Amino acid sequence: APAKTQLKTTRSEEVFKEALTLLPGGVNSPVRAFKSVGGQPIIFDHVSGPYCFDVDGNKYIDYVGSWGPAIVGHAHPEVSEALKEQIYKGTSFGAPCELENVLAKMVIERVPSVEVVRFVNSGTEACLSALRLMRAHTQRDKVLKFVGCYHGHADSFLVQAGSGVATLGLPDSPGVPASSTATTLTATYNDLEGVRKVFEANKGEIAGVILEPVVGNSGFIPPTLEFLQGLREVTAEDGALLCFDEVMTGFRIAKGCAQEYFGITPDLTTMGKVIGGGLPVGAYGGRRDIMQLVAPAGPMYQAGTLSGNPLAMVAGIKTLEILGRPGAYEHLDAVTGRLINGLLDAGRAAGHALCGGHISGMFGFFFTEGPVTCFEDAEKADREKFGRWHRGMLERGVYLAPSAYEAGFTSLAHTEEDIDRTIQAAKEVFAEL
Ligand code: PMP
Repeated sequence: APAKTQLKTTRSEEVFKEALTLLPGGVNSPVRAFKSVGGQPIIFDHVSGPYCFDVDGNKYIDYVGSWGPAIVGHAHPEVSEALKEQIYKGTSFGAPCELENVLAKMVIERVPSVEVVRFVNSGTEACLSALRLMRAHTQRDKVLKFVGCYHGHADSFLVQAGSGVATLGLPDSPGVPASSTATTLTATYNDLEGVRKVFEANKGEIAGVILEPVVGNSGFIPPTLEFLQGLREVTAEDGALLCFDEVMTGFRIAKGCAQEYFGITPDLTTMGKVIGGGLPVGAYGGRRDIMQLVAPAGPMYQAGTLSGNPLAMVAGIKTLEILGRPGAYEHLDAVTGRLINGLLDAGRAAGHALCGGHISGMFGFFFTEGPVTCFEDAEKADREKFGRWHRGMLERGVYLAPSAYEAGFTSLAHTEEDIDRTIQAAKEVFAEL
């Protein structure tokens, strides 16, 4: 059994203390600051395979994976080698390069609903561009999103958003004009009746529906197939578009993304995380006739100095190539299933109310009996207990997302041995909670 270490965190504390004077809250993205689990963040030094190493020399089995991109394992030698080769040829051209075609073809081949794709630099950019495109195509202004779904931090989406917004308890954000969110409608995830009502009340006015096809930003919440099928029908009937935000699920749930897994064809798809293999990449794509509206093919403006830069393209190409090899998704499913079942068994054996699950390399559980089918259910979970669980696991060398409102991620580098060590640590922590 892994010994409980009294984590030595001297250096992490020093670095974070300085960061607090330099960066808002000491970080460049809110959830990293450990605000919702208490304690202070550990400062990373380097990452490798399924592991991360902090500046005090502690080693952790990592289930955050840089929030998704590290799906082939951190610092995969083939990805690093490809990047090294590219770096000497230049990191940004601001001009077309063939690598953009290579990555585009890989995406288009794997995701049949995507006929044309535009690369951007983050998931946020992908989603805000997709929203503009839904509006441009339909000449309607309203958009429907779901409570607890996060689509990046564009003004229109900061309404009942999950992730860090939920973690920090911000119902909204100051600085977002009421006029930017006036056209954002919300409904409850997995509640098709609710969606129908919104459409009845806004007939012919909704440009599109955007959703996480599997929620990862309120914790892990899978959709029902009927819900996804219903959304496809309702949008088609009303002339609205359906946009799958696959920033998290893209190339993680399945080779052809969540839309392949569930057999639903959205009009538009947004991507990020995995597609950049650890470099800043996002993408949006879909039906050719819709994408032809994007400048310079059409009038909808959207641009980017670093978009499609060769370094980022190389990391994405190599990562998708590795994921395309036989057995990749079987491995993700097997290790993740072993992990979540082990965790649920261990927790329940120790008397805790738990519910959770996984799809491929994405998983999560809640400290509640459940079932959890939407954000409102997720809020019933014991978050104070989650904080103690998180700390206990950290002290035993397991790095989990520092918020109850985030999904967990595995990678091709996680082995059965890593999983079993994690479950062993979990048994100790569950016994203490
Ligand atoms: N959409 C979803 C579903 C996400 O999970 C995220 C990020 N967690 C985003 C959009 C925003 O992506 P980024 O952080 O790259 O801007």
